Amino acid sequence: MGRLMRRDKMRSRIRARSEKQIPWDIAVVGGGATGMGVAVDAAARGLDVVLVEAHDFGKGTSSRSTKLVHGGVRYLEQGNIPLVMSALKERGLMRKNAPHLVHDLAFVVPNYSWWEAPFYGIGLKMYDLLAGKYGFGASRLLSREETLKRLPGLEPEGLLGGVVYYDGQFDDARLLIHLAMTAADHGAALLNYCPAIGFERDEDGYVNGVTVRDEETGRELSIPARVVVNATGVFTDQVRRLADPEAEPLMVTSQGIHLVFDRSFLRGETALMVPRTSDGRVLFVIPWHGHAVAGTTDTPVDAPSLEPKPLEEEIEFILETAGRYLTRPPSRKDVLAVYAGLRPLVRGEGKTSALSRDHVIHVDNSGLLTITGGKWTTYRHMAEDCLDHAITLGKLPDVPCSTKELRIHGYVEDSGSLGSLEVYGSDAEAIRELAKGPKLAAQLHPDLPYIAAEVVWAAREEMARSVEDVLARRTRALFLNAEAAIAIAEPVARLLSAELGRDEAWIAAQVSEFCALAEQYRVR
Ligand SMILES: Cc1cc2nc3c(=O)[nH]c(=O)nc-3n(C[C@H](O)[C@H](O)[C@H](O)COP(=O)(O)OP(=O)(O)OC[C@H]3O[C@@H](n4cnc5c(N)ncnc54)[C@H](O)[C@@H]3O)c2cc1C
Repeated sequence: MGRLMRRDKMRSRIRARSEKQIPWDIAVVGGGATGMGVAVDAAARGLDVVLVEAHDFGKGTSSRSTKLVHGGVRYLEQGNIPLVMSALKERGLMRKNAPHLVHDLAFVVPNYSWWEAPFYGIGLKMYDLLAGKYGFGASRLLSREETLKRLPGLEPEGLLGGVVYYDGQFDDARLLIHLAMTAADHGAALLNYCPAIGFERDEDGYVNGVTVRDEETGRELSIPARVVVNATGVFTDQVRRLADPEAEPLMVTSQGIHLVFDRSFLRGETALMVPRTSDGRVLFVIPWHGHAVAGTTDTPVDAPSLEPKPLEEEIEFILETAGRYLTRPPSRKDVLAVYAGLRPLVRGEGKTSALSRDHVIHVDNSGLLTITGGKWTTYRHMAEDCLDHAITLGKLPDVPCSTKELRIHGYVEDSGSLGSLEVYGSDAEAIRELAKGPKLAAQLHPDLPYIAAEVVWAAREEMARSVEDVLARRTRALFLNAEAAIAIAEPVARLLSAELGRDEAWIAAQVSEFCALAEQYRVR
């Protein structure tokens, strides 16, 4: 397909339609997993869909997850069987439709008490059973020796054995970009750096459009639409209040952080799962892009923010908990990056960790349709549900959902052979071609696999507009190694400026903005 994800073209398409006031079938506000899933589903049904994102696609929670495509072993314990079953099915569909981005991963639950093997063994057999034909592999009990063979860095003292089970793992921000490209391939118009700042209404007071501001030009635009979908995650209530200042809050927010270490802390190809930490949560240490990621926490937060800050006690908690299970306990100086994300949780009783991860579809009196809650793993199912409601609400053509079978942009079966360009799937070949250009095959930093051609590709084909877009979400440099990301900010800014036609002042501003942001991803 190619050349579809061009911001100037997208902007012109949207503007032309606004000038003539031709309504879109659906306008989506929010470019995270939820909103992008809705855009993909709508476009695949042949509907006219436009999506606006206030910052960059995936800037919110959707780039800050634990990177698991899972049914959620924890929700089994809470007795939420329908959620687990639905997520296990979605896990299977995600791997089928995006094999370049979603992989199986073996997890080991180590047993240090006699009761843990039968307890977790039975629980995980149930997990296998609920997956049915979407299963990823059978769980089984491991001897002490087998457990240590799979997890060579595990603390051997007092270890009795373990249980191995299988789940999925992915690169969240990359999948998001590939969903954007899938939506664009099917005709959706998508604009980043374009916040919704208000809603349009018809004579009866129903929302029939959204007002946006293009942050690059400062121009405001009114986008008419038959249905407006609010998919803004932890910002859901703020956006609902743009339509109805009296809207009762739907959401609560909780923060989770992750620490990223060198891979030597978790050797082997298996993840470690600690089923019950001292605060009653699950902790994972997982291999990811040649590093080890440990998390997460659950800290209630009062106000949403696009760049949440990790708390000292969260950092200490993960270091301490992971340290109990690893022969070489990590310390602060071993942390290559720390990142925080906010969970969009639907209000209910009790602690945030006990709140349901089911999604909710809500229609305000103004007719604004909100979809929120859920998990990354269930984005497709959420979108299908949302579209079914939107079609009724907007009296749109009743075309059935087709995303169960829809291949995600870049689909390729044997992506393993693509090496460090695996996440691009079928686009890897075009990036290799680009890398034949002068200096574009050069690795940007010895500790990271990224080459200069990926920066050019991100600007030309994936709507990257800033150093942060490239280093945080098109590549995952900032999430893997904040210091290394800082070191390459300037060369990345120069490559981008050549692509986007910017000047020296822009380069200087970009480097200084990015370095200030990246400081928050470092632990001292
Ligand atoms: C710590 C943590 C770990 C997690 N781990 C997993 C996991 O391993 N597996 C899993 O399946 N799920 C996981 N989740 C859950 C999952 O990440 C979220 O459910 C999902 O990313 C939410 O996506 P979203 O699109 O609803 O929200 P977001 O990704 O936050 O997207 C909302 C978007 O709306 C935009 N926006 C806000 N206001 C406006 C406006 N006025 N105009 C335009 N745009 C606007 C924001 O900029 C943002 O990009 C995790 C969540 C957290 C916090």
